[in-house]
Amino acid sequence: MKKQHIPKAKIAFIGGSGTFSIRFPEELQMPGVKVLGQQVFSTPFGDSPKFKLFSVQGELVLTVKMHGWRAGVKRADASRQVFWVLEKAGVKTILAEGGVGSVARDFGLCDFFIPDDYIDLSMRKDVHLSDNYLLIMRDPICPYLSGVLARTAAGLFPDRKIHGGVYAVTDGRHFESRAEVKMIGLFGADVIGQTLCPEVYLAREIGACYTGIYLVVNRAEGIGPDWSHSELKDIFYQEALNVGKIILESLKKLMSGKKKTCHCAKLRKKTLLK
Ligand SMILES: [Zn+2]
Repeated sequence: MKKQHIPKAKIAFIGGSGTFSIRFPEELQMPGVKVLGQQVFSTPFGDSPKFKLFSVQGELVLTVKMHGWRAGVKRADASRQVFWVLEKAGVKTILAEGGVGSVARDFGLCDFFIPDDYIDLSMRKDVHLSDNYLLIMRDPICPYLSGVLARTAAGLFPDRKIHGGVYAVTDGRHFESRAEVKMIGLFGADVIGQTLCPEVYLAREIGACYTGIYLVVNRAEGIGPDWSHSELKDIFYQEALNVGKIILESLKKLMSGKKKTCHCAKLRKKTLLK
C-alpha cells in the first residue's frame, strides 16, 4: 500500500439518500463551514470512496456520499474501506442519514426517525476490520448523539414528528415483499432500511459513537396505501437541504467542546479468543 497522509479528525458524517441530490455541505452555504478538498485513500480492502474534507468552525469533518457505495464495489467492502479510513483518522463521533420505509402505521411520510435499536436481517454479518474486539451491542446507537440530533431537528422543524424505535436492516437492493414486511413488523421493527448495519458494528469496533437520522420516504409494502415513485422522488429532492441543515447544525453543536456523557466506548472489549 502506498504511503499516504490520512488527516486527523474527530468527527465524520456518512451521507445517504437524504443528502445525495445536493452538493453537501457547500450547497447549504452555512457560515463557518468550509470545504477543504476531496481525497481517495488506499485501504487493505481496496481504494476508498472519495472522501470530502470540510471544516465546521475550524474543526475537520470527513464525509462520504451514499455510505461509500458505488458500482463495482461490494457494499461490505465499501463499508470496510470507509471505517478503515475513519479509524486511521481517529474519528470517535459519527453521524449518518438515510431514507427508510415505515412499518409502524402511525409514522407519516417525511417524519424523522432516530433509532434506538436495530434488528439485522442482512446477510452481511462477517464485516469487520480485525479480530481484536468483543463488541457489545447494548445501546448500539449513541444516546448522547441521538439527543443532539433530535433537539436540532425539533428546533429547526417544530411541526415535524420525530420517532424513536427499531430499525430493521435488510440487504436490498430491492424493497421487501408484503409477507416480509408483515414478518418484520411482528419482529418488532418500526422501519426498514439498508444502511444501519454493518456501520453500527464497525463504529463500535473503531471505538466511535454512532447515530443517524432517517427520513420516512415511503410506507413498506402492505402498510397503508401503496406508495408512488413520484412521491418518493419528490421527497428525495425536496428534503435534501432540510436533512443537510440538521446535520450541519448538529455538527456545530458537537464542536462546542462539551464532553459526551455516553458509555459507548466501554462497550468494546478485548476479544477472549486470542
Ligand atoms: Zn456514545
